Amino acid sequence: MRVWSHADFDFPLPPGHKYPLGKYRLLRAEAIAEGHDVDTPGPISWEALLRVHDPRLVQAMRAGELDRRTERVLGLPWSPQLVERARRGTLGTLHAARDALGGRGVGMMLGGGTHHAGRTSARGYCLFNDLAVVTTELRRERLAQRVLVVDCDVHQGDGTAELLTPDPDAFTLSLQCERNYPFSRIPSDLDVELPAGTGDDGYLAALAGALTIAARRFGVPDLVLYLAGADPWEGDALGRLALTKAGLRTRDVVVLDHARARGVPVVVTLAGGYPPELRDGVEINAATLAETAARVGG
Ligand SMILES: [Zn+2]
Repeated sequence: MRVWSHADFDFPLPPGHKYPLGKYRLLRAEAIAEGHDVDTPGPISWEALLRVHDPRLVQAMRAGELDRRTERVLGLPWSPQLVERARRGTLGTLHAARDALGGRGVGMMLGGGTHHAGRTSARGYCLFNDLAVVTTELRRERLAQRVLVVDCDVHQGDGTAELLTPDPDAFTLSLQCERNYPFSRIPSDLDVELPAGTGDDGYLAALAGALTIAARRFGVPDLVLYLAGADPWEGDALGRLALTKAGLRTRDVVVLDHARARGVPVVVTLAGGYPPELRDGVEINAATLAETAARVGG
């Protein structure tokens, strides 16, 4: 399978920072070892970012003029490399979406799913909202109009909700731990709030129910944007849910097969994952890649 990775583009981080920068290189190496073709996306244009985000945010990112509060809310120190990587990550998700829509049925970005970024604000390690940017660009290219976001990161997709919930041709579904970041929600079309400690059975039942409700309310979309967050895992440092690795893999299968049964292409992004040992994150993401690759060509 052809997949996209921005792992070559590191950025400076203070020692001990929770962002799992090293994971992406390990994951890319794993993908290559498994025989996948890994391509590197270029940076998405500023124009594409400006079609979704406030010009003041884009300009501040471009020029390195974030005020202290913005940088704190983002949670990452600004650098030119950080912005370059975020632009490449955003274009990577767009390339993966084009792969999915171009006959492969699935596409994958080994990153992306930057769901906390809103119109005017970068938040929670997310500079730009790749899901909203990709939706806008696909419409301009007349490749897709109606999109279903299935956000299975353990944190609520507040930025995606801000940007896409008001959009009648987008449906935002987000499953998350009820007592977790972000502490003030922006409502999705459908939010599923799970108690801390929810395990495989409770999670998978809630997911199946939510997919059914989304299908009833929104019908058949042109594309599913799937955020396969690794952070609902029981060992995650920021998650507070209790899914096993097998449960996460089943979750991926449920989402991918739900789309496939309806003939809907899926673009897969990784969103978050904060395991104390990077190899656990690589293992969870690699399982998502394997299940995605198994469905190339429908
Ligand atoms: Zn998360």
